[in-house]
Amino acid sequence: MTTTSPLMPTYAAPPVTFARGDGTQLWDTDGRRYLDFLSGLAVVSLGHSHPAVADALSEQARTLLHTSNLFGTLPGPEVATTLDALVGDGAPAGGQVFFCNSGAEANEAAIKLARKFGGRGRHVVVSAYGSFHGRTLATLHATGQPAKHEVFQPLPEGFRHVTWLDLDDLERVLDPSVAAVLLEPVQGEGGVNPATPEYLQGVRRLCDERGILLMIDEVQTGLGRTGRWFGFQHSGVVPDVVTMAKALGNGVPIGACWARADVAAAFEPGDHATTFGGQPLATAAAKAVLATMQALDAPALATKQGERLTTALLAVPGITAVRGLGLLLAAELAESIDAKAVAAGALAAGLVVNAVTPSALRLAPPLTVTDDEIDEAVSLLAAVLAEHGR
Ligand SMILES: *Cc1c(COP(=O)(O)O)cnc(C)c1O
Repeated sequence: MTTTSPLMPTYAAPPVTFARGDGTQLWDTDGRRYLDFLSGLAVVSLGHSHPAVADALSEQARTLLHTSNLFGTLPGPEVATTLDALVGDGAPAGGQVFFCNSGAEANEAAIKLARKFGGRGRHVVVSAYGSFHGRTLATLHATGQPAKHEVFQPLPEGFRHVTWLDLDDLERVLDPSVAAVLLEPVQGEGGVNPATPEYLQGVRRLCDERGILLMIDEVQTGLGRTGRWFGFQHSGVVPDVVTMAKALGNGVPIGACWARADVAAAFEPGDHATTFGGQPLATAAAKAVLATMQALDAPALATKQGERLTTALLAVPGITAVRGLGLLLAAELAESIDAKAVAAGALAAGLVVNAVTPSALRLAPPLTVTDDEIDEAVSLLAAVLAEHGR
């Protein structure tokens, strides 16, 4: 066997290598321009190379990078206070934050917290089929995609899966061993499938009746993407634990697990830790991201531009439906059109999207995407679909 890459083959060979980005635009190593309607998988919500984030990073890099969690640093506590206010949709939610480095780590922290809070014998985490919660062994088991589990068996015990949006199925598995229910407000990787408000309200009620934690995975949906600060806010439920990551650093790795204070109090010093989590470079980026998002009213941008993008997509021959919330959208393609082939064609035409299912494209541009960029992207996509529809 010949090895052609110095990297492990966990990812398919890249079709393009990007060298530079600005706002919604990317340029490859040959200088070709692309419109980025994927945002690095819903990460770069403020657009590439945002000056406020770049300035915060360079200033922090000249000030202090790392001292370990044996000591306090800035601006982590300030970021945690802001996140608590965003979870409370403007008013303090009364919770506490654990910082980490990724979405999987945020969920891993939530799972450990649920086990510590639940106590011995009350440790099961219930999640939905079609969900995605990460790739560590525990979060892989929480991920409701059995095909992904098989080659890594045995996985950590204490996970159960239920049919998405089926309250009866959930009620059936809630026995005294269940510590928490973990759900996305919109299944992102699973195909951009939003929960209904009635479902999340029903889950909240079942959890309340049984003293089970409701943990919402906002790693992809959080921080304005769906048109609210957090996806759960569309349904009016108040979760006990909220995890986030992707958009929090606008490309700088950072994750966070927020929990109601009495739940967070289950953790004692020594229960959980991370070397890098909460360090000044990442939290300086997050501080700049949150301040910029608040100044721009990021959720309102997502709502407005999401409506424009949805309307434009629905007028394209070959697109039969558009689903999602805000600027986390999937365009369902007409029967017999292969989404992977269309995504590859779009890339060749200068538009970055991905095939979130075999028949649907995911569109998640920066929340700062302009009207002109939406129009340009949709006409590029229409031209690609005109070829594939033939
Ligand atoms: C991406 C994602 C994760 C995993 O985040 P990583 O940073 O890749 O570990 C977890 N949950 C959801 C909903 C995600 O979209």
